[in-house]
Amino acid sequence: MIPFNKPYLTGKETLYIEDAVKRGHIAGNGYYTKKCQNYFQSNFGFKKALLTTSCTDALEMCAILANIKAGDEVIIPSFTFVSTALAFVRQGANIVFADSYSDNPNIDTTKIEGLITSKTKAIVVVHYAGLACDMDAIMAIATKHNVLIIEDAAQAICSKYKEKYLGSIGHLATFSFHETKNIISGEGGLLAINDERFIDRAEIIWEKGTNRAEFFRGEVNKYGWVDTGSSFLPSEIIAAFLWAQIENILDIQNKRLEHWFFYYNNLGEWAKNNHIKIMPLPEKEANNAHMFYLICKSEAQRSALINHLKTREIHAVFHYLSLHNSDYYKSKHDGRALPNSDEFTKRLLRLPMFYELNEKKVVKAILEFKTQLG
Ligand SMILES: *Cc1c(COP(=O)(O)O)cnc(C)c1O
Repeated sequence: MIPFNKPYLTGKETLYIEDAVKRGHIAGNGYYTKKCQNYFQSNFGFKKALLTTSCTDALEMCAILANIKAGDEVIIPSFTFVSTALAFVRQGANIVFADSYSDNPNIDTTKIEGLITSKTKAIVVVHYAGLACDMDAIMAIATKHNVLIIEDAAQAICSKYKEKYLGSIGHLATFSFHETKNIISGEGGLLAINDERFIDRAEIIWEKGTNRAEFFRGEVNKYGWVDTGSSFLPSEIIAAFLWAQIENILDIQNKRLEHWFFYYNNLGEWAKNNHIKIMPLPEKEANNAHMFYLICKSEAQRSALINHLKTREIHAVFHYLSLHNSDYYKSKHDGRALPNSDEFTKRLLRLPMFYELNEKKVVKAILEFKTQLG
């Protein structure tokens, strides 16, 4: 069986966990947390990086930092994972869902301005499959309308928009180290802060609303409860695991790119013959090989292809159910149709993608699939 995802272990994870235990400090914000955060700050251009227990938690921190209150509006693509919206809904926001482009699941920037009202506080953009949203257009809208931009870069580690790493452009950004992402810690995430105004408060929210981080740096002589917050920081055990992954990040990325290009170079003609579209070829540094997806001609064709692969012991999956049609939010949605998001819900298929993948076997099985005529 070729699974859809298999978490990759570099071999050093348990060694570093053992070391963290031996150091005698296994709560958060210790040796390995600092190593990881310094790495992200020095290599990706973030002004401040804070490890979190998940990308969902990092998004919740963004909602608190953005001062989202009941009745505020937040613009979010409908074609995304639940957490992108959930974090803001918990603060009382009304979500104004935006559609995708017709040929790309990312938020259609030409539609955003029409959704902005006096209540709009933030726009959350999602770099789907690690491919950048049109950040120049998005940041121009932010400046013009004085709204915050939060990049949900859960899938976008190591990928760039023009010269800049994704996650370093919006006011705030979030990453995921869930076991389905490129580098992992089981569950885990990161808040990247690019607008310095948010740094001090983010540290407080991260540490249960206390100024404990300042205290440990010797900047204040006692610590206490100064703001809202939660326990958003992971233990050193998680950070130690993540450090082993970070040390191997280039190797992991190269391997994934090899698989990605094998799919890209070998599926084009088959796709054309079957009226299927394959992922576009991004510019060199704008591809992190998080995912390889196909856009099938119809939902029926996608089901047939999934079944075909299943008979050859290969697990391919689809997602997302557009959030404006979700059980939880459909009654709260304002009723606008979002046809492009719905099309991706019906027709997008993700192929297996992980470090140890035998992509030749997957391609061979796919090439045996012929769409039935009629
Ligand atoms: C994976 C993912 C998340 C959630 O990440 P967690 O670390 O599991 O909370 C959020 N948004 C997007 C776009 C994702 O792909």
